[in-house]
Amino acid sequence: MITKFIKRILRRDPMVKHTQANNSGAPKRIPKKAHRIDPHLLSKNAVKVTHTLQQAGYEAFIVGGAVRDLALGIEPKDFDVATNATPDQVQRLFRKARLIGRRFQIVHVTFFGKGHPEIIEVSTFRALLDNAGDHVAESGRILRDNVWGSQDEDAARRDFTINAMYYDPSSETVLDYHGGMADMQKKTLRMIGDPAKRYREDPIRMLRAIRFAAKTGFTLDALTRAPIAKLSNLLQDVPSARLFDEILKLLMSGYSWAAIQGLRDAGLHHGLLPLLDHILDSGEDSKGANDFVKLALANTDQRIQSGKSVSAGFLFATLLWPDLLKNWKANIAKGMSNLPALNDAMDDTIATQSSGMTIQRRFESDMREIWSMQPRFEKRVGRYPYRLIESPRFRAGYDFMLLRCATGEQNPALGEWWTLFIATDPAGQDELMASAKNESGNSANPVKRRRRRKPKEATPAENVPD
Ligand code: ATP
Ligand code: MG
Repeated sequence: MITKFIKRILRRDPMVKHTQANNSGAPKRIPKKAHRIDPHLLSKNAVKVTHTLQQAGYEAFIVGGAVRDLALGIEPKDFDVATNATPDQVQRLFRKARLIGRRFQIVHVTFFGKGHPEIIEVSTFRALLDNAGDHVAESGRILRDNVWGSQDEDAARRDFTINAMYYDPSSETVLDYHGGMADMQKKTLRMIGDPAKRYREDPIRMLRAIRFAAKTGFTLDALTRAPIAKLSNLLQDVPSARLFDEILKLLMSGYSWAAIQGLRDAGLHHGLLPLLDHILDSGEDSKGANDFVKLALANTDQRIQSGKSVSAGFLFATLLWPDLLKNWKANIAKGMSNLPALNDAMDDTIATQSSGMTIQRRFESDMREIWSMQPRFEKRVGRYPYRLIESPRFRAGYDFMLLRCATGEQNPALGEWWTLFIATDPAGQDELMASAKNESGNSANPVKRRRRRKPKEATPAENVPD
């Protein structure tokens, strides 16, 4: 017994340090016939990770959103593993394992197979922190928490009961510390512990509540929902990059429109995207904007639900478009000419947005490109269409223009013209150009049309990156 204890200390086993703090009781053990998780939905690599850890004498479980999704019969998009092995101990067991993070170290174990490499995120059970000391900001937000703990502490630190279940693939048993499975059956999203305190510790949990409710169709438990409206201003303290990541997850959840409605109902949308303020707060006068955004989000949801990719730049370009359009028109009304008016409106729209949540630069440049392509679709003379079609972001700009056609903001005939233009051969393109000329009565247009050139073969000098 004593030698076992000493061995544990030498292995720096986190269980030793925290056994006294273990006070929240045993978990409910849910057998296969009750949880009905289909083992075919499991990632083989995640199972490999739990087996390897267990064979080395550690505890290891699939945890969090993956167990929630498995129990709902959904194939999880990624797998997290929780263990009582420390990050160093985990790293030693796998060939492709990388330590990540400073605030809380985790290990990324990478598997290369067919298709994309799969990363299994392995984290060590975390300790429960009391809300005192220098790791907590004045507002209650946790700043530093690099302390390992026991499994029940780890469970208590998680956000919702349905996110705090642990699945052991070897025994096919679920360990449920906070009644997650019962909540699942009641279709309830319930915060673990005192909701107000948990939101103060990490205000992002308010956005997570809305996202998971939209994704699962579950109802927020009354006590979980109650403090949100009052605490919504805490989101202002959250670092912008983290806020951006969470909003992106929400928009890319496959249930973005439902989630945005949820934000509004909970009083959380203010200051995140100014556009949301416009379209969600006002009525008839913003109907056009509302229709556009709704259609854009419905398209995005559909693409994501059918496993297609979605570009974040495109998504934000659509969300901010009604704002941009308003600014653009106002500039023209002030006497500016079309293109400078658009450029100026882009700057204004992005500046207004940055006062809420800053959109990352790489997405900002995509947005600008998509927006500035829009007036170019109307120029169907000379060499313009040929040039436009060759721009690297053409497809995104074209999809964006089709959205505008679908809501009637742009003439649907323009969308149809471009759809034909892309699909047809050069002779067909000539005919289309002629038809556009006749349509616009633009035969006197001075710009000469040039045939699309075959792309030049790059000379060696051009291949050298500068
Ligand atoms: P999804 O991956 O589908 O977005 P998820 O629940 O897996 O959902 P992750 O962000 O991957 O979400 O987090 C994994 C798990 O870590 C969660 O299920 C939850 O148990 C815990 N967790 C994540 N973020 C928080 C948080 N802010 N507060 C408390 N627990 C959290
Ligand atoms: Mg996850």
